[in-house]
Amino acid sequence: RELPADPESGPRIRQVPGAAYSRVDPTPVAAPRLLAHSTEMATRLGLSEADVASPQFAQVFGGNALLPGMAPYAANYGGHQFGHWAGQLGDGRAITLGEAINAAGERWELQLKGAGPTPYSRSADGRAVLRSSIREFLCSEAMHHLGVPTTRALSLVGTGDAVVRDMFYDGHPKEEPGAIVCRVAPSFIRFGNFELPASRGEIGLLRQLVDFCIRRDFPHLRGEGEALYAAWFAEVCERTAVMIAHWMRVGFVHGVMNTDNMSILGLTIDYGPYGWVDNFDPDWTPNTTDRQHRRYRFGQQPQVAYWNLGRLAGTLSPLFDGVEALQAGLQHYVDVYTAADRDNTARKLGLAQCGDEDVGLMQALQDLLTSAEVDMTLFFRGLADVDPQAPTLQAIQPAFYDEGKRVDSEPQFNEWLSRYAARVRADAFDRGERRARMHAANPRYVLRNYLAQQAIGRAEQGDASGVVELLDVMRRPYDEQPGREAFAQRRPDWARDRAGCSMLSCSS
Ligand code: AMP
Ligand code: MG
Ligand code: MG
Repeated sequence: RELPADPESGPRIRQVPGAAYSRVDPTPVAAPRLLAHSTEMATRLGLSEADVASPQFAQVFGGNALLPGMAPYAANYGGHQFGHWAGQLGDGRAITLGEAINAAGERWELQLKGAGPTPYSRSADGRAVLRSSIREFLCSEAMHHLGVPTTRALSLVGTGDAVVRDMFYDGHPKEEPGAIVCRVAPSFIRFGNFELPASRGEIGLLRQLVDFCIRRDFPHLRGEGEALYAAWFAEVCERTAVMIAHWMRVGFVHGVMNTDNMSILGLTIDYGPYGWVDNFDPDWTPNTTDRQHRRYRFGQQPQVAYWNLGRLAGTLSPLFDGVEALQAGLQHYVDVYTAADRDNTARKLGLAQCGDEDVGLMQALQDLLTSAEVDMTLFFRGLADVDPQAPTLQAIQPAFYDEGKRVDSEPQFNEWLSRYAARVRADAFDRGERRARMHAANPRYVLRNYLAQQAIGRAEQGDASGVVELLDVMRRPYDEQPGREAFAQRRPDWARDRAGCSMLSCSS
C-alpha cells in the first residue's frame, strides 16, 4: 500500500537534502526465528546449510546483530507515484547491511526489509507483516527460477513481535505477526535515486551518483563524459525492456510501477501488491488502490516502463548538451521491447520465428483468451500438446473458467486452432522439438495468488512448511513434477478476485 505522498495528509516529512543515504542500524526484535531460506542464494553467498541453521544467522538477518564490516544505511530517493511527482520517499523500511563479495568475485548487497524505522519512515513503523514478507520472499525466488531478472531473497525471519496494521475490513486495527526478508541484489539503486537530487537542483550529487552507479554496477561500459552516459542510459533502457517482456511472457503484474520501484539494473523490485494473471486479461490489476484508473494493469506495463524511462531521461538531461542521446535511448527501449515481444510470440507458440502475420495470430489468440476467460498458464502449456495434423481443443479444455463461455467460443477457438496448426506445419520442427521449445517459454507452475495465500494462512497459524513446499515447487517451474498437479490448477472459485478489496493482494 502506498503511503500518502501528500505532506498535508500526514506529519511533515523530514527532508534530507544533499545526501544519497543515511546511516541507520536495524532495530532489534523480540525473538528472531528463521522460517525459510533460499538454498540457491545461500550457496551463492558462500553460506553452508549449517551457517544458515545457526542461531547467529537468525540474529543477523532478524536485525539483532551485525557482522564485522557491516555499516547499515537507508537510501534516499524520490519518485513519481501514479504519474505524479511525490518528492522524497527513501527507504522507509529497508536497511542495507552491506555488500558481500563471494568466492566468484560477485558483489551482492544484503538488505533487510522490515527492520525498523529509518530517517525516511515518515509516519510509518518501518516494519513488515509476515503476510507481505512471505509474498516477497516467495515471488523473488519464483521469478528467478522462471528466468526473470529480479532482486533475490535469502531469508525469511519471523520477528516474534506483532505489527499493527489499520487496513481491515471491520474498521478495527489488526495485530499481525512481523517478519523480515533479507533481499539480495548487486544494487538496489532505483530511478528515484537519480530523480531526487535532480529535482532539488543538486546536479553535483546527481553526477556523483551516476558516476558511482556506472563504475560499480556497469563496469563493462567504456568511454567518458556524455558518450559514457549515453551508453549507460541505453543499457538501462534495454534491460528494462527485457524485464518487461519477461513479465508479459509469464503473466506477472507488478502492481505499483512507480519510478521509485524501478531498478536501474532492470531487476524486478519491490514485491508489494503484485499478482499473476489467472484468466488472461490485459485490463487486470492486483492493486486494489488502482482499480479505477488501472494505470498499472497487465497490458499497460510496457507503456508504463517507457513513461518511467522518460522521467529518468528528463532527470539525466542536465548531464547532456542536447536531447538526442536520451531520445535514442528511449527509441532503443521500443526496439528492444518490440523484438523481445516477437520472440515471446515465437517461443510461446512454438514457431521458429515470429513474422508479421504471426503478430496478428497472437493478437487474435489474446482477444479470444480474454473474452472466453481462459487461464493463461494452462492454455499455453496445453497448446504444446495440440497435434498440428489434427488440432482439437481437448488439451486446453482445463484452461477454461466458464463452461458457458467455453461452449460459446468453441467455434472461434477451432478456427484459430486450424489457422495455428497450418502455421506450425510450415516450420521444420518435429513434435518433440516444438514441444520442448514451448515448454521452455511456458511455465507449468507459477506463483498463483491463491497458492501464496494458502501458504500464508498456514504460516500465520505457526506452520511455515507450506512456504517451504511452495518454494520447492517454484524452483522448477518448467518441469513436470509428478504428484504436484495440485500446484498447476485453475484458480478455484473461492479465490476469485472480489471487486473492492481482494483478500489476496493487499500488501503492507
Ligand atoms: P512502496 O509502496 O513499498 O514502494 O513504498 C513507498 C514508500 O513508502 C517508500 O518510501 C517506502 O520505504 C515507504 N514505506 C512503505 N511501507 C513502510 C513502512 N511500513 N514503514 C515505513 N515506510 C514505509
Ligand atoms: Mg517501493
Ligand atoms: Mg513496497
